[in-house]
Amino acid sequence: MKNNSVFAVERTWPQYKSLVEDGQTPILIPVGSMEQHGHHMAMNVDVLLPNEFARRIAEQIGGLVAPPFMYGYKSHQKSGGGNFFSGTTSLDGGTLVSALKDLIKEFVRHGNRNFCLVNGHFENSWFISEGIDLALRELKWDGITGVKAVVLSYWDFVDEDTLAALYPNGFPGWEMEHAGVMETSLMLKLHPELVKLEDAIDHAPPAFPPYDVYPPHQDWTPATGTLSSPVEATAEKGELLLSVCTKRIVTALKKEFADRSAVSAAATAAQ
Ligand code: ZN
Ligand code: MN
Repeated sequence: MKNNSVFAVERTWPQYKSLVEDGQTPILIPVGSMEQHGHHMAMNVDVLLPNEFARRIAEQIGGLVAPPFMYGYKSHQKSGGGNFFSGTTSLDGGTLVSALKDLIKEFVRHGNRNFCLVNGHFENSWFISEGIDLALRELKWDGITGVKAVVLSYWDFVDEDTLAALYPNGFPGWEMEHAGVMETSLMLKLHPELVKLEDAIDHAPPAFPPYDVYPPHQDWTPATGTLSSPVEATAEKGELLLSVCTKRIVTALKKEFADRSAVSAAATAAQ
């Protein structure tokens, strides 16, 4: 029994209750996807990476990590290769929104008031926002206010110096990062057993036209499924990404969750 685990499900329910009932402990919810990540990586990259960021962040801010979302919104051709690859397994937008909304309301019922949604899959972003917006609206109808949720994608915390170190030949843009240098470097650092860099194909980012077509022209996506070349990925770059993003996210969350004791007092009183 790991009594000091930051993973909420590794606690007993009385331990969990005592940690969350006053609403002070931030709950971090990683949101991922099951998605092809080229010929060189496993399909759980978008789950493993936000889960590990959440673990590191929780340790520094005294938070708890909820079980991650293993499935996310549909892979888009220009940011994830497209939803037509074998293996890529996605939810409809409405399903993801409803599931997120349900979970937020459940965690609020336990007493939680401070949330951080840690996104690991580009296409999830607006659906996370919608799930939270609907949860906050319904909670308000029930007279519960004072819930705060921070929504973030870890790659948005990469600073200019790190970008220059990662992409000496020019940054392709985050939407082109699908199974590219960033994700592959993080996986090489954290889960080298799930990466086979020698199977990576070196190719230039595809030149997509400024519109989408449904059903998609599958030949617009490189056959490997990657959108930019991962061959420059290294474990050292992964280490740099982990430390820079974790540090900057911790700073942001400490700021957002400071002075929340008044809200917590209200949460306790309401029980
Ligand atoms: Zn990914
Ligand atoms: Mn993805």
